[in-house]
Amino acid sequence: MSPTRVAIAGSTGSIGTQTFEVIEAENARVPGSYEIVALAVGSSSAAVIEQARRCSPRLVAVVDESARREVAAALAGVEVVAELAAVVGPADVVVNGVVGFAGLAVTIETLRAGKRLALANKESLIAAGPIVQPLRSVPGAELVPVDSEHCALHQCLRSSVAADREVARLLLTASGGPFRGRTAADLAGVTVAAALAHPTWSMGPKITVDSSTLMNKGLEVIEAHELYGTPYDDIDVVVHPQSIVHSMVEFTDGSTVAQLSLPDMRLPIGYALGYPDRIGSPFGRIDWTALERLDFEAPDRATFRCLDLAYDAGRCGGTAPAWLSAANEVAVDAFLAGNLRWNEIPDVCVGVLAMHDGATPHTVDDVIDADAQARRIARDLLSKRST
Ligand code: MG
Repeated sequence: MSPTRVAIAGSTGSIGTQTFEVIEAENARVPGSYEIVALAVGSSSAAVIEQARRCSPRLVAVVDESARREVAAALAGVEVVAELAAVVGPADVVVNGVVGFAGLAVTIETLRAGKRLALANKESLIAAGPIVQPLRSVPGAELVPVDSEHCALHQCLRSSVAADREVARLLLTASGGPFRGRTAADLAGVTVAAALAHPTWSMGPKITVDSSTLMNKGLEVIEAHELYGTPYDDIDVVVHPQSIVHSMVEFTDGSTVAQLSLPDMRLPIGYALGYPDRIGSPFGRIDWTALERLDFEAPDRATFRCLDLAYDAGRCGGTAPAWLSAANEVAVDAFLAGNLRWNEIPDVCVGVLAMHDGATPHTVDDVIDADAQARRIARDLLSKRST
């Protein structure tokens, strides 16, 4: 059997490097299972050169111009280009691990080309839902989520032959992040280091801050709605600090199916690469004799305001999720740079959404414009705030 050809967009980030680990483990088990044919990065030239020497891709995309020149000089015989979405061409499966809205083109081009999209870049689905949805019906196009909760839901939904009719409720689990149980007053002086200290998951800085505010969970509610078509009233969030149950589906007869595993992103990555089969390399197994308890509690929606902001934006639809996601990216960047307090992240999002024009995107350009407009308003709010 010929190897599955994989492209990795965002190859030097957290998802990208773990994709390498999954593929190297599978190829050690069954030689020639996967071939990494293309890599894409923003500007990490040294890291992508090292990766390219390990996997000999046909193509490397580098957005930053000077980094691109360095990569081209180091990798003779490899096609080095500027567009992230160029990685789609030589691949059967595209892993989109780009951070934030920059991942949009990879999502669109993969589905347009009728290929499998292993999607870790939830922002592209959230911001461009109305544009991405019709592309899912392109022959061959297939969207398999690389997000632990949505991978769990994907697995739970496979347990029903008529999942679309029999689902009563999706239950997304949330670890609660590093500030679970704290009050708004406790959280007034949160530092960047504290927000980046996630109790159960090891991830990149943007999503780790999003986890601390519960914006990540809010965006995941929108992601679940987009992926599975479930109405917002039928998507609930439950806090589960151990991160062993990764999400659940409750069916119309009251039966609930859950997916359990250790918190390790290599499982969802491997699931998306191997689907509809399962890979043979486990990255840890649950020791049931050591698992003392699994706790569940309601989220604190008053302290972690971002969760309901996302429900509101999702229900509003159109470009509102794009505006929320863009406002949040600007606010998180400002927080990471030391220019915004942690508890002001939702204020920026509220301020931006208050200006939302109620538009519906019809083209990719409409989505790009909506994103740019929301970012302008967010930056404007930030600059007024600091003067
Ligand atoms: Mg997740």
